[in-house]
Parts: sequence; structure tokens; C-alpha cells
Amino acid sequence: MKIICIAANYRSHNEEMNFERPAQPVFFIKPETALLRNNSDFYYPDFSKQIEFETEIVVKICKMGKCVSPKFAHRYYEEIGIGLDITARDIQNDARAKGLPWFLSKGFDSSAPISPVFVPKQRFESVQDIDFSLKINGNVVQSGNTRDMLFSIDEIVSYVSQFVTYKTGDLIFTGTPKGVGPLKIGDFCEAFIGQEKLLEMRVK
Ligand code: MG
Repeated sequence: MKIICIAANYRSHNEEMNFERPAQPVFFIKPETALLRNNSDFYYPDFSKQIEFETEIVVKICKMGKCVSPKFAHRYYEEIGIGLDITARDIQNDARAKGLPWFLSKGFDSSAPISPVFVPKQRFESVQDIDFSLKINGNVVQSGNTRDMLFSIDEIVSYVSQFVTYKTGDLIFTGTPKGVGPLKIGDFCEAFIGQEKLLEMRVK
């Protein structure tokens, strides 16, 4: 399986990062080894001094697909979860300045914690109206709503499939709103969809 991550998909985050509004969805891939499952601990890597969280709604692909039209994109996912697109911001900033790829800053081991449980999309009136948030040590540090995406989930599912064939179980991280920030050793993270806690992670 693969983890497809959408970059720059919320205006508020693009402003805090100085990203231009993309004309098309921008995406990159994390390897399967980036997954951190079952509310496991995250071990702060020694190659970065600036590890940051990005809280993101995650869509699980439910069947093989290629060149999916926007109209049928909704048939390719049934479940929604939450995850953290953990980023070595110091490495990313260095790569951006040099025009180099972001892989190292985004694709390292355990850089993609996901909720143990994904919820059926039918639970939501609209997948483009989902509140989500992250608490660290009991304080809300980031919150957003999928209505603020620049490209909707269906547009993303369709666009990416022009280039990359989906397999069952692939995950799409759909981008982060504003409020990204640092993780420190000892932090306890809790990610929510609405009021429901779906993901816990301790930083060690
Ligand atoms: Mg992200």
C-alpha cells in the first residue's frame, strides 16, 4: 500500500507557510514504513531538531482505481480517519530553499500515525463538513473543517488517479489547516473527529 499526501490544501495553512495557492492538487507519497498504528509511541528522531505535527483527515481507498472521474470518486472510499503528517520542518525548509524534494522531511519511519479506527463516511452528512482537531497535553493546538479544503476529497481522489493507480487500503492524507507546530519529547497527542477521540500518541 501507499500513503498519498496532499500539500497546500488549506488557504490558512498556505498563508502561514508562504505557499502559493496551487492550480492543481499537489501530492507526495510516504512509504508504508511511515505508518504508525495502534496508538503507538512516536520516538523523536535524532536527525531533526524541528519535528512538527500536521493534523489531517485521512481517506481510505476501498478498491482499485485508475483515471477515476470526479463524479464517481465517492465510490472509491468508504471510511474516514485521522492522522498526523509528521514533518521534519528543518529538513523541509532546507530542501525548499534548495529546490530539492521533500521526501526525507516527510517520508521517514513513523511519520504517518493513523487512527486505529476509521469511521464510515455515511456517519457524516457531508465529507466536506467534518470538524477535526488535535490536543497536545490537554490543550487544543490545531482545529479545522474539511469545508475549507481548496480541493475537495472527490477532486483529490480523481486527480491523483490520473497518475497513480489505487490499490485497496491506500491512504490519502488530505492536507492540514493552519496551526501546525512543534512536537516535544513527553507530549501526549489526541486527535479528534468532531468530539470523538480517534488517535492517541505519546512522543518519546
Ligand atoms: Mg501535510
